Amino acid sequence: MAGETHPIEWSSADFLRNGEAVMRALAEYHDTLRGRPVASFEGVDSLAASLSERPPPELPEDFDEILADTLSEVVPNLVHWNHPRFHGYFSISGSYPGALADLLAAGLNVNAMLRSAAPAAGLVETLVLRWIREMVGYHPEATGVLVPGASLGTFYALVAARDRLVPEIGEWGYSAKAAGVLRIYVSEQTHSSIDKAASALGVGSANVVRIGTDDGYAMSVPALEAAIESDARRGAKPLAVVATIGTTATGAIDPVVAIAEVCREKGVWLHLDAAYGGLWRVMPSMRTVVPDLRLGDSMVVNPHKTLFASLESSCLYCREPGALERSFRSVPDYLRPGGSDTERDYMNQSLQLGRSFGALKLWWIIRSYGLEGIRRHYQQLLDSARWLEERLDSSDSFWRPAQSPFPLITLRCGDGSSDPAAIALASRRTQELLRLVNQSGRAYVSHANLRDGYTMRVSLGNIRTTREDVEEFWRLLQLLG
Ligand SMILES: *Cc1c(COP(=O)(O)O)cnc(C)c1O
Repeated sequence: MAGETHPIEWSSADFLRNGEAVMRALAEYHDTLRGRPVASFEGVDSLAASLSERPPPELPEDFDEILADTLSEVVPNLVHWNHPRFHGYFSISGSYPGALADLLAAGLNVNAMLRSAAPAAGLVETLVLRWIREMVGYHPEATGVLVPGASLGTFYALVAARDRLVPEIGEWGYSAKAAGVLRIYVSEQTHSSIDKAASALGVGSANVVRIGTDDGYAMSVPALEAAIESDARRGAKPLAVVATIGTTATGAIDPVVAIAEVCREKGVWLHLDAAYGGLWRVMPSMRTVVPDLRLGDSMVVNPHKTLFASLESSCLYCREPGALERSFRSVPDYLRPGGSDTERDYMNQSLQLGRSFGALKLWWIIRSYGLEGIRRHYQQLLDSARWLEERLDSSDSFWRPAQSPFPLITLRCGDGSSDPAAIALASRRTQELLRLVNQSGRAYVSHANLRDGYTMRVSLGNIRTTREDVEEFWRLLQLLG
């Protein structure tokens, strides 16, 4: 260690000492997390009050103090998404290899915008995009790019779809004569990001057509066909269908084969929102359940949801090579060091110019666990989900309003009676049960409003979640229910 000194930067010796303290704190956090409340909101108001009055320090502060008050004031006032009994929203994981890769990438701080600006970062990104493409099964010729989230990935895919349908819009906006009224078709269970994308695209959220769903909350194909035809008759242009593989509320899968057939017939772009469901295809047993992603003109999968990668990490793939570049390539002269910019210059595949070396964590995660390890943990989560479903099904106190092939369980209090008064009562009791579960600190769940009413969602997905955690959750449900 040369022990260089810099005007304001820490010395390497300080970095090592402070880094070790952070590492120790994180290891201890994980070693004790199971015994701590998943969420507690008691200290949030006083923290808000104390932070709102804090001025930026004029003089350097001691790192011991910075770390100490972060650990004592900030960490306890989080909801612990990395807790093994965090089952809210979609349960995700910040894994150790992912966290270390983020640290190294941040320390190197290269900009993965151009191949020539950080050659090996681009090569590793190309590699992990290929690995993930092979893990889920998508077209070898597809263009892929890492994006910060599926919401953005879907937005980019819709821009690419728009620019294929009406190329003039990129230059002239919607004043282009050919623009007309564009329509996007989704199911009523679709993620809210599609509405946001439609507004931001200028298509308008009112032009997002919500197709009804069947008993399993999957898109109705006859209704989709009818909607596209009725729009076409009045001169509106079908821009894209967004089908979901693993809906947010119940983990339903839209009938992608039949939807793809409709899209092919009518020449409509099919985007697959496989943010949650796509990566499960790494398991041979799930390939019969999770549709072939190659049916989509574009698709997104979220490593930050199911591949134990810390936020923000999502993969967007577009089947037509060059489709993303057509929309997002705009290279000023100063960014053309070697003259020719290739499609491997990831700045040409999205709106981002500066890009982190986010591929590193995916590389480290996949290498650290191997596909075998990933499949083994997925299997354990699926087995635990099926175990919990069996308990619920054999209990008189709970009822499951929807089925999912994924480890996402939906449940309601009561016996599933369709009498309106019973439905209303069951909704109130389910809401109260959810409140009690979350207040107990022993688990954390979230909800969905389904046809049958207020429903508890239990998502299993954290890398540290074991069968014992799910058994403890079941005991908690029985106790509070
Ligand atoms: C999580 C999720 C999204 C949003 O993903 P972000 O990465 O948070 O933007 C979109 N669609 C579905 C189906 C999801 O599960």
